[in-house]
Amino acid sequence: MQNGSKLFAIILGVLSIASPGKAQQRAVSLLLINGKVFTADARGTIVQAVAIDGERIVAVGSTAEITRRFRAARTIDLQGKLATPGFNDAHIHFLSGGLSLLRVDLNGARTLDEAKRRIARRVAELPPGAWVLGRGWDHTLWGGRWPTRQDLDEVAPNNPVLLQRVDGHVSWANTLALRWAGVSRQTPDPPGGEILRDAQGEPTGILKETAAGLVARIVPEPSREEKMQALRRALEEAKRYGITSIQDNSGYETTKLYRELLRQDQLTVRVAEWQNFEDSVSELQRQRVEFASFGDDPRRLKLTALKGYVDGTLGSRTAAMLAPYADDPHNSGLPRRSPEELTRMVVERARAGFQIALHAIGDRANRMALEAFEAASKVSAGEQRRLRIEHAQVVAPSDFARFRDLGVIASMQPSHAISDKRWAQARLGEYRVLGAYAWHLMRSFKVRVPFGTDWPVEPINPYLGLYAAVTRQSPDGDPPGGWWPQERLSIQEAIRCYTAEAAYASFEENEKGVIGPGMLADLVVHSRDLLTIEPEEILRTETVMTIFGGRIIYQRQTAEQPASRR
Ligand SMILES: [Zn+2]
Repeated sequence: MQNGSKLFAIILGVLSIASPGKAQQRAVSLLLINGKVFTADARGTIVQAVAIDGERIVAVGSTAEITRRFRAARTIDLQGKLATPGFNDAHIHFLSGGLSLLRVDLNGARTLDEAKRRIARRVAELPPGAWVLGRGWDHTLWGGRWPTRQDLDEVAPNNPVLLQRVDGHVSWANTLALRWAGVSRQTPDPPGGEILRDAQGEPTGILKETAAGLVARIVPEPSREEKMQALRRALEEAKRYGITSIQDNSGYETTKLYRELLRQDQLTVRVAEWQNFEDSVSELQRQRVEFASFGDDPRRLKLTALKGYVDGTLGSRTAAMLAPYADDPHNSGLPRRSPEELTRMVVERARAGFQIALHAIGDRANRMALEAFEAASKVSAGEQRRLRIEHAQVVAPSDFARFRDLGVIASMQPSHAISDKRWAQARLGEYRVLGAYAWHLMRSFKVRVPFGTDWPVEPINPYLGLYAAVTRQSPDGDPPGGWWPQERLSIQEAIRCYTAEAAYASFEENEKGVIGPGMLADLVVHSRDLLTIEPEEILRTETVMTIFGGRIIYQRQTAEQPASRR
């Protein structure tokens, strides 16, 4: 690499001798100069300057070379700041995230009382009978006891309440919500779900996995206006964090809202939307045909994977494990369906030509997904379909090689590890924890590992993800040296996972994810040099500027922002 960059410098020197005069300079729309531009290519090339014309990058190189070859309507002096490709969040729930900004936000509520106070504030704004919705509570912060409907009745006696746990896999309802939904002691547990019950057999208000649907199905859908408002809020968040692409779990219907934003030229992220794996093949194909009829620019809005669920989560002990939980010896979690049915559905959809993305947390769920994908690879090449496992959180030692052999992508979210580590060891025990959140091991098997956040399960902030990937520590630095530190990545690798690897996962590695000629001009300028700062400073890094398709869509409002000149 040393020799390569020397050679590059020599070539640049030769070019400078043969450089054209002013008259032969090519006119472009935007130059970025005097920066430290980490291109995120496979060699980790760093350049100083980028020439952009319209929505594409036309050249990268030294400031001297780029300013000699190009003149631009606008030139931005980066003043030595680090620029990277825009972040591509490879697993996000953008609409839910936006809605969470409009609802009761229980994220980070440190006690049950604090959660109740936040709920009471919302109740006070609503008329009796109106639904109180929200998410983000985490009972593991409150000592681990499941909260109850009575806890909610105290603050919301006259409003139905339904609140999702931070992982989205467990819901907490009050008595009125259960009554309206007709959930009583006589209601059986639905397949793939559980209604927690007290000693008298009465529902406690905690509804796991599919049981949440018993109440959720009677909650009125948010209005179209509310959803548009949520997406606009989410787009503001994304640009503030340098996110220029998302791979999104909002579902097919949401593409209609994205399309409206696109037509209004307000869609400032590129959206790869996922369809619902549970839908029939004929319905999925109908959606594809309908989607194609709108003729959207696929670089702005496209359909990629079918998103399905194999299991639940570790936090609520619904992840499907090969052996029981270390701290719950009669429980191995809940697969959503049998291996046979999963394989049948995967093969049928792969044969119809779909990319498939399966949520799998536990080692049993990951194995079920791999087995289904192996069967699918016999009907269509895995590489060609780029089959994905979402989260791949706990993987049995012998299964890492199967990801590689089948060409399965491990779509991971580093911030999950630093949130979950408080209890993951207790859930998993000393042995299984070695295959948990094992992104370094996964990459050492040459598996593609795109990074995302799972927002609103975790904050949308990609700097938190980078920090988690390189430190394996919580934001307060715990534990010193990192949790299973052999799984730490270099910052360069972590940035690549958030950019180039993520682009591969949506079949767009020739369009974006790397700063190079011909690529879409999606870049982010950072307030600090992520490549050299101490890891704890990653958390204090901010996006200074977000460039999307050659347009500046965000600039941080401080004195520090890069100077712009003609
Ligand atoms: Zn998710």
